[in-house]
Amino acid sequence: MVMTVESMNTFRQKYRENIAPRYSGAHHMLAVSSVSLAVIIYALFQVSEPSYLEWSIFPLTMVIVNFAEYYAHRWLGHTKTRLGKLFYSRHTGDHHSFFLQEYMSYQSSRDWRVVLFPVFLIFAFIAGLILPPGYLLMNHASENVAYLYAAAGITGYLFYEVMHFSYHVPEKSIEERLFLWIPGWKSMRQIHRLHHDRNRMAQRNFNITLPIFDILLGTLYWEPLPKKPSISD
Ligand SMILES: [Zn+2]
Ligand SMILES: [Zn+2]
Repeated sequence: MVMTVESMNTFRQKYRENIAPRYSGAHHMLAVSSVSLAVIIYALFQVSEPSYLEWSIFPLTMVIVNFAEYYAHRWLGHTKTRLGKLFYSRHTGDHHSFFLQEYMSYQSSRDWRVVLFPVFLIFAFIAGLILPPGYLLMNHASENVAYLYAAAGITGYLFYEVMHFSYHVPEKSIEERLFLWIPGWKSMRQIHRLHHDRNRMAQRNFNITLPIFDILLGTLYWEPLPKKPSISD
């Protein structure tokens, strides 16, 4: 579907009208961050004198999460599947109709509804992708490995949420100034902005955090930042 600025604005208006009046962006953000931080802290507190080999599960898991992020975004978020129907409609349907390449900023905290994952997803992620492998690691490797895996898995999830949110903060806002301190952040935002071109979204730039699998699988697309500031919305 070709989207113009007018159709994006019509979509935004309709989407905002359908957000429940009781929805609170602050509560949404608080729920996602408190659940993930609680799991990370709890898991790390269970780790006792890990060896270097046990620690290595942490970066390894972060790389696996990077692939999961790529896989889910490319093959569920931008590919119609029966299993990923809800994610496809929330992502290709809602998120990409709400934010076009030159109109990446949310306008109020109610717009966070279309930026952050729904809260239930973190529980589904824990139940489906943290607990079963964690149980196997506990029985076949060690408790340290199991808890480090859990901590790293949720860290990867939170990393996705924070980075994706950061790419949609309004330009020249206090939030943007905070994120600008992160080395390389501007380039990472540019990579995601290029992904928001509707002609490119199903082909390029599927990583949201570090573009590891976009590089490995040849789907990274890069254009330098435009010289003059982009049209702010
Ligand atoms: Zn986005
Ligand atoms: Zn996308």
